[in-house]
Amino acid sequence: INKINSSIDRNDIFYSFEYFPPKTEAGVENLYSRIERMANLNPDFIDITWGAGGSTSDLTIDISTTAQNLVGVETQVHMTCTNMKKEDLRAALQTLKDNGLQNILALRGDPPLQSNDWVEVEGGFKNAVDLVRFTRQEFGDYFGICVAGYPEGHPNGNYKQDLVYLKEKIDAGADYVITQLFYDCDQFLKFVYDARAMGINVPILPGIMPINNYNSWMRMIEFCKTKIPPNVQQQVEQLNVEDDEQVREFGIKLCVDICKKLLSSGIKGLHFYTLNLEKSVTRILEELDIQREIDQRSPLPWRPTANVKRQ
Ligand code: FAD
Repeated sequence: INKINSSIDRNDIFYSFEYFPPKTEAGVENLYSRIERMANLNPDFIDITWGAGGSTSDLTIDISTTAQNLVGVETQVHMTCTNMKKEDLRAALQTLKDNGLQNILALRGDPPLQSNDWVEVEGGFKNAVDLVRFTRQEFGDYFGICVAGYPEGHPNGNYKQDLVYLKEKIDAGADYVITQLFYDCDQFLKFVYDARAMGINVPILPGIMPINNYNSWMRMIEFCKTKIPPNVQQQVEQLNVEDDEQVREFGIKLCVDICKKLLSSGIKGLHFYTLNLEKSVTRILEELDIQREIDQRSPLPWRPTANVKRQ
């Protein structure tokens, strides 16, 4: 078993893929096939989201367990405090441990769709930092812990204060950071610079989100209050937004440009929000030409455990 943190603080380029739990059984089966196919792209790890309000907790754990133990990719499990009492969180963490999963992304969670305010459950936690502390208290160093960072500030927070809270999460024992999606590269680089200036020295992986469909992209960037830089906005305005193919091609080019700029600025790891689709991420990696050699000698399932060191 491997802790992601021990493999990402290094000098070569690497990437990881996020998936979410599908709603139907057929969807889950499709997802396994997709994870398996995309494992041929050699991601360092994958992660599985925890549905809003804890709605998918069991499924998230099932999918993560299968992905890691059967498909053989190192898998990180998102976990939120929403609607989870301490004992529920302890039980979920214990299940992960029993299943051989060793990496979590510790989050507070979003408010349910109907409400604006996030309310802690009685006997639960208020912020992600509490979950980080709890995990360290109860499970020591067993888990590698990732936390969320916000290059543009949290939608309900404030940029500077959020950095203070991020530092708190690291001081409480988090090992590294994955950021919210963004399309303003300079803002991400500023965020890394500001984090370093505050003594946050752990790896910070940029969250890259391709565009698969105009309307769902719009919903996402409105929800996250993501800034669209003027030059990107100009290009978006030229698009025929009904034409999914054109929109997707635009998204690929946009993400390739962002990734190139990040890589040339010294960023080593890229985290892709796949949206459970493979085309865009595959194309982006092809165009970046950073895909690692596939080990032809060992067909799937080629890694009985995910801790085999890849070159
Ligand atoms: P926190 O770090 O607790 O921050 C939440 C808010 O509280 C911020 O406004 C912050 O400024 C403030 N705050 C933080 N610490 C303190 C403190 N000590 N005292 C007072 N205020 C504080 N959501 C899901 O439901 N499921 C997922 O799988 C999921 N995956 C995500 C993955 C990534 C990479 C990211 C960036 C987000 C993800 N989210 C997910 C969304 C996330 O749950 C929301 O953004 C949520 O609103 C904040 O979570 P957090 O862990 O950043 O919370």
